[in-house]
Amino acid sequence: MQTSELLFLQIAVLGVITAVGMLFTYALPAPSHKHKASSGLYARLFLLFLWLSYGFSNLQYIDMALLHSLGQNLCATLAAYMVYLTVLKRFGQALPKTQRLLILLHIACIEALTWVMHYYTENMVFCRLLLLLSTLMPIVAAALKMLMLMNSRSIGDKVLFYILVGAVVALVLGGPVYMFALQVAADHQSFITFGIIVIAMIVFMLGFVVSVMHSLVIRLKKQIYRDPLTACKNRNYFYDVAPTIVRKAELHCQSVCMLVCDIDHFKSINDKYGHLTGDKALRHFSQLLRSQLYPGDILIRMGGEEFLMLLLDCDLNRASERAEMLRQHIASQPLAVNDDAISLTASFGLLALPAGADVFEIIGEADQALYQAKNNGRNQIIAYGQPFIQTPDSTTLPASSSAPAPGRHTELGAVPATAQEK
Ligand code: GH3
Ligand code: MG
Ligand code: MG
Repeated sequence: MQTSELLFLQIAVLGVITAVGMLFTYALPAPSHKHKASSGLYARLFLLFLWLSYGFSNLQYIDMALLHSLGQNLCATLAAYMVYLTVLKRFGQALPKTQRLLILLHIACIEALTWVMHYYTENMVFCRLLLLLSTLMPIVAAALKMLMLMNSRSIGDKVLFYILVGAVVALVLGGPVYMFALQVAADHQSFITFGIIVIAMIVFMLGFVVSVMHSLVIRLKKQIYRDPLTACKNRNYFYDVAPTIVRKAELHCQSVCMLVCDIDHFKSINDKYGHLTGDKALRHFSQLLRSQLYPGDILIRMGGEEFLMLLLDCDLNRASERAEMLRQHIASQPLAVNDDAISLTASFGLLALPAGADVFEIIGEADQALYQAKNNGRNQIIAYGQPFIQTPDSTTLPASSSAPAPGRHTELGAVPATAQEK
């Protein structure tokens, strides 16, 4: 096959790869954020400019040296800037006006210098050096930007970052070797360039896709585990993540307590004020719970007006003190609705997780303690399987319940109900 035919074939093949890559980006889920959504556009432009730069690079073989250098330097630099812009937009950032001007200035300088070098010398070395430096700058900027903005827990972001670092290393180490040291015939050289460009296209696009997909998975996970009304974690989170959290705490020899709570007579709030106010009360209640959490604690809305808290690194004594503070806090913070104040109280079931406990089984015991608190008159805390700690208040316990036997459900911290709470 003639060299020109081979070049034409390579340009055509690269064109097909570029078109497929560009079409592929349309299949990616587009985020609703304006800037994030445009990252796909810049990834497509990256492919297009890289393909064009390959087309221009082949003009050197048909005696169009000036057009070759001007076109190649322009397109390769633009392709590198598209990488920078893709990264910037991936993280929802706009391109500042000053940076826009600097990019234009950079491109104008590159083209002017390329033209001047061609005018004064036949030597292509300077042009190639210019190309190398010119493409290196935006890639380094993209890697630095990525380092600043990336979510270090996202594997996708990490993959894209390391691809950019790899591109910088390849340009710094491999670029000079390829451009100045490698003496090969024209058709071989164009073939190697073809290979390098295909690899650059595939690797960058893979990094981009992995990064997009991973952030989508992280977002979906957040939604799957989030209760939309109260923004607490939901039951899915309890099933999927709670066992791991408890296991990790056990590995660190931390005690964990489970506290389940249920708003008292919540139905009457719905009945009296309507469902929307009921929703407001749920949000208010969840905020009261959240305000009393410590770092590491977990708050889950298990459903309806029932919540569960995992208190980490907290023994039963401390947990009962905290539960009592929580109970009082809730009772003292009524929800203001128009001119009315809706007072809320809640009943609690508390349990210290035994080592190796199955959280799915143990929750039944915490629920039993909660039912006991409801049966005893509500607005109180019952710890499962604990000996008597404090004399129950006569107003919150049935007359028949004297000091319970050790090992049975007993009341903790029965605080005399204030007039307001009643
Ligand atoms: P108890 O003191 O025994 O817990 O009485 P309760 O009225 O709180 O309990 P019950 O189970 O009888 O009623 C719970 C109510 O919570 C019934 C249901 O309509 C309401 N509910 C559940 N989820 C929601 C919600 O998302 N929004 C609103 N507004 N109400 C809800
Ligand atoms: Mg209730
Ligand atoms: Mg309930």
